[in-house]
Amino acid sequence: MKCNFCKGEAEYDGKTIYGPWAFMCKSCFAQVGTGLGLGKGQKLKTEPTTKKGRGINDANRKQS
Ligand SMILES: [Zn+2]
Repeated sequence: MKCNFCKGEAEYDGKTIYGPWAFMCKSCFAQVGTGLGLGKGQKLKTEPTTKKGRGINDANRKQS
């Protein structure tokens, strides 16, 4: 997954200060991310073992 701002390796998926959600690397997340938590953002999981919680996250994203 690439960062939507600098094309670096994304580490976070979260809401930006501009409104829309985006994939962000660590430094871009620090600049334009709104934080971690419900409705704000999450750290990307690198292991492909996380199927649980995906539906919750998707529903959460639609609200914003
Ligand atoms: Zn970046």
